Amino acid sequence: MQADQIQRFFSTLRAANPMPASELEYSSVFELLAAVLLSAQATDVSVNKATRRLFPVANTPAKLLALGEERVAEHIKTIGLYRNKAKNLVETCRLLLARHGGQVPHSREALEALPGVGRKTANVVLNVAFGEPTCAVDTHVFRVGNRTGLAPGRTPHEVEMQLLERVPDEFKVEAHHWLILHGRYVCQARKPQCWLCSVADCCDFEPKTAAP
Ligand code: SF4
Repeated sequence: MQADQIQRFFSTLRAANPMPASELEYSSVFELLAAVLLSAQATDVSVNKATRRLFPVANTPAKLLALGEERVAEHIKTIGLYRNKAKNLVETCRLLLARHGGQVPHSREALEALPGVGRKTANVVLNVAFGEPTCAVDTHVFRVGNRTGLAPGRTPHEVEMQLLERVPDEFKVEAHHWLILHGRYVCQARKPQCWLCSVADCCDFEPKTAAP
């Protein structure tokens, strides 16, 4: 994808959805961190179902730590890897209280030092909570980046580096959301819906799919 196509690609996505948002439900930076931590290899819908049970009971590091690993696991047992996620979440709460006064740190290094928090989760928190121009690469972003020619790469890290280099600054903060939503609803894994895609004219993927 050439620079003028990239400009048109994001201008089109922005025009259709000027203020894209995460589909994870949260009402504080800590709830966002917890929801993203729980979302590894799980859909946002399944995470929202679990956090609708968990957050009314405990939605701060102190409350989750007091609840304990076993009971946290009970509340989130409908999502994959729930035992490990409960363990990581409670340990993250302990470290947030011990190192950061119970606050979510605004620092990649400090975030990635928390259990269960990798580069992708840190990128989401830095982007969504703190407005930083980071590009978290999940399965949708990875696929759309490669398929369209926007940000080709063999690994999520390579795709992320391509996005940081190629996405114009004016789109950087929201790019992650636009790409996720586009991948989730239009440029889907099994069969991209090219026939109704608003950015088909700037996408390198060939042959485009036709309407069924
Ligand atoms: S034209 Fe097809 S492959 Fe390209 S972004 Fe749209 S849906 Fe995806």
